[in-house]
Amino acid sequence: MGKCLIIGCGGVASVAIHKCCQNSKVFTEIMIASRTKSKCDALKAKLEGGETIIHTAQVDADNVEQLIALINDFKPDVVLNLALPYQDLHIMDACLATKTHYIDTANYEPEDTAHFEYSWQWAYKERFEKAGITALLGSGFDPGVTSVFSAYAMKHQFDEINYIDILDANAGDHGYPFATNFNPEINIREVSAKGSYWENGKWIETEPMEIKRVYNFPQLGEKDMYLLHHEELESLALNIKGIKRIRFFMTFGQSYLTHLKCLENVGMTSIKPIEFEGKQIIPLQFLKAVLPDPASLGPRTKGKTNIGCIFQGKKDGKDKTYYLYNVCDHQDCYKEVESQAISYTTGVPAMIGAMLVMTGAWQKPGVHNMEEFDPDPFMEALNKWGLPWIESFAPELVE
Ligand code: NDP
Repeated sequence: MGKCLIIGCGGVASVAIHKCCQNSKVFTEIMIASRTKSKCDALKAKLEGGETIIHTAQVDADNVEQLIALINDFKPDVVLNLALPYQDLHIMDACLATKTHYIDTANYEPEDTAHFEYSWQWAYKERFEKAGITALLGSGFDPGVTSVFSAYAMKHQFDEINYIDILDANAGDHGYPFATNFNPEINIREVSAKGSYWENGKWIETEPMEIKRVYNFPQLGEKDMYLLHHEELESLALNIKGIKRIRFFMTFGQSYLTHLKCLENVGMTSIKPIEFEGKQIIPLQFLKAVLPDPASLGPRTKGKTNIGCIFQGKKDGKDKTYYLYNVCDHQDCYKEVESQAISYTTGVPAMIGAMLVMTGAWQKPGVHNMEEFDPDPFMEALNKWGLPWIESFAPELVE
């Protein structure tokens, strides 16, 4: 079918690449290009021999000229950006210059301010429309599948959705006193930021971890969860008809929070450069260097994740509630692709998003969020490629 250029070769990319190779009818040829080429070569050596032809390259994704040269050389149908949020705009620039479709899993964040929002990427809308190419933003689990779940609920279950609560629970245990399940820098920036939710047309800001709830998750049991700001809230608030409130909650154990507080109190989570032995260093980047590599957690992590959305709204004039979620087992993921469930639940939707753009099922010139497309082919692909979903019509609600 076609060629895909995958940028980045970390935890999420590794799963997406395994999945592309399983889906070799669509991904006939892939190029893995990242900052550290040896990681791309090691993955190629592991996966080679199947039907997908694998190439590797070194690229600095902050260098638009290098990206353009790589795209012109390989001529992919789509570029799947699985590097870090800091690279999004550079990769979009290279896609525009070469008229190549673009997919990512996280919205742009400037490296020097811990703040993310869609405005920078939405500003590319007209240029992508004019170039006749599609940018699909946020094709991971959250954002990603949570937006597809919302579009599916809207299409098949409701006339109007008034409330959405997105719940992200991880009951995995890796046995370390403190580690993060994906890139520590991105993860700690996200959880130490102020929280916010959208209600009656306005954003309401909270202190970090100010709002706590306890929820009894199917297959996981009772967990403490905390309200965070999350990127899909921004696009769902615009795209879901009749919406009055959207919130996002993530589970954290007490020990994780105590460690994080301590690191914050001593200044280790700061992104302001400091002078150390004659060199400028960023404390959070130094912390990343001493924490366990998320990729090393795979073999040690036991337990399950549960991520989903609870919808409340109206159907045929009556009140209705509906819960759509996926449960993923860390050890099952490891057996299949040698990664834990956090990378798995992001890497599988990344492959599916790239597949739907490549086959044309989800092509629409411009810059789009996931809920703007027909959810049905994505929902079908989730069941087929390892993230089956479960529905409940009488879920416990979050107060
Ligand atoms: P990792 O840190 O494991 O991997 C990032 C990869 O990008 C590494 O291979 C790194 O190279 C490469 N990279 C970084 N900078 C550059 C650059 N300038 N040029 C080329 N390559 C570069 O991160 P994850 O795999 O955990 O996360 C990947 C993305 O997925 C992130 O954007 C993250 O925010 C997103 N994500 C989305 C989720 C969702 O549900 N939507 C959930 C989890 C993550 P090197 O190996 O040299 O360091």
